[in-house]
Amino acid sequence: MSHQTKTQIRLAAELNETLFNQAHAYGMEYLNEVTTRTVFPSTQAIHNLTIFDEPLPKDSAPATEILELLNEHGAPATVAQMGGRYFGFVSGGSVPAGLAAKSLATFWDQSSAMYVQSPLVSVLETVVESWLQEAFGLPHETVAGFVTGSSAANFCGLAAARFRILTTLGWNVNQNGLRNAPQVRIVTGRHAHSTVVKALMLLGFGKNDIEWVDVDAQGRLIVEKLPPLGADTILILQAGNVNSGAFDPFTEINQVVKDSGAWIHIDGAFGLWANASNELNHHTKGIEFANSWAVDGHKTLNTPYDCGIVLCNDRDALTSALHMVGDYIVYSEQRDGMLYTPDMSRRSRIIELWATIKSLGKTGMSEMILNMHRRAVQFAKEINKVEGFAVLNEVVFNQVMVMCNTDEITNTVLSKIQQDGVCWAGGSVWFGRKVIRISVCSWVTNEADITLSVNSFKKALE
Ligand SMILES: *Cc1c(COP(=O)(O)O)cnc(C)c1O
Repeated sequence: MSHQTKTQIRLAAELNETLFNQAHAYGMEYLNEVTTRTVFPSTQAIHNLTIFDEPLPKDSAPATEILELLNEHGAPATVAQMGGRYFGFVSGGSVPAGLAAKSLATFWDQSSAMYVQSPLVSVLETVVESWLQEAFGLPHETVAGFVTGSSAANFCGLAAARFRILTTLGWNVNQNGLRNAPQVRIVTGRHAHSTVVKALMLLGFGKNDIEWVDVDAQGRLIVEKLPPLGADTILILQAGNVNSGAFDPFTEINQVVKDSGAWIHIDGAFGLWANASNELNHHTKGIEFANSWAVDGHKTLNTPYDCGIVLCNDRDALTSALHMVGDYIVYSEQRDGMLYTPDMSRRSRIIELWATIKSLGKTGMSEMILNMHRRAVQFAKEINKVEGFAVLNEVVFNQVMVMCNTDEITNTVLSKIQQDGVCWAGGSVWFGRKVIRISVCSWVTNEADITLSVNSFKKALE
């Protein structure tokens, strides 16, 4: 018998059903309670997190005890995002097939850099790439990179833009860097998401390089305010304003800029999915004229977290911007996912993205997205009837902004709502006023969830 270390013997003994059944049982217990528990953890639960605060452990610990610790002290301190009344930020729930597929794929632990590391991942990425072309009505040459979220997707799309624009201007940015490079113009609306600005900064642009275009009362870029664009310009548009949910007027913008040679990037983190519904897809009309798009799986599509997608109609620009070489890299005739992402090793998030889309189908996606919109409209209607609250935006998608008579009252009411635990909403600022922002982003949310939440708002104001 070959010699095994103590650690090998111990770990091999733990690789059994008891451990994984335990994880599964805890998980199911959690899912069964998540729709009825308080949405934000209690003060006690948060206080109990001190149990995790210990020095780097010297000795090993049994796996079942580790899970027990997580279940007992971790689970109660989670935010009930899987339920129907979490309206914070723009955070999605999780479709069961996606969640279950993710948990199955956990056992496979695939690295997704190259075809040779996981033919399965490569095939699913290829399939989903063409599904996404169809779902968003994008040109056939559009390629997809499966990344962590829209922050990364914005970065990748803008990296492709930078590469292409500079190449057109006769400059190889990979070879020569940005010093002495021709000037690239950046044009975007004043309400561009902060991750767009961050991506620009990571790419060597500064805030002062941005030509800001005025927006209307809903946060949409005003077409008449667009400066003349050229082949040296990256124009960044938005499908789904993070506060109001509004969409830039893509068709009108395209009419103005179509012959300019500018690169158009659309940040559609949650809003691009409006395209899935026939009743909402007038908002996304014209997105197909862009060159790159950022969209999340983990928001309105309800995949588990850590799932974003960059789409780009210029494969060469995207892969040139993100490429790497090494003696040990084995590119194949098949899809090698790392060409389309900043990462080399990645977990196989495509498995849950594929499972989520397969589970919903076009019909299910359409119904789920439309329900988010309808619940947002319901919220706006019900809260508008309550004296002391006012809805500030046109509820075109899934976002509702509410304010009270003064900023002070809005702040106090918001913290009372958060303490109440019936729902959770966050705060934001809209044209200088404090607002409470409701983002309906889960397949779970139903009419009763909305009414319960509006009642909690009412109680908080009283
Ligand atoms: C959430 C969001 C982002 C960032 O996406 P992450 O997935 O959180 O990285 C970018 N733009 C908009 C409009 C968003 O709503």
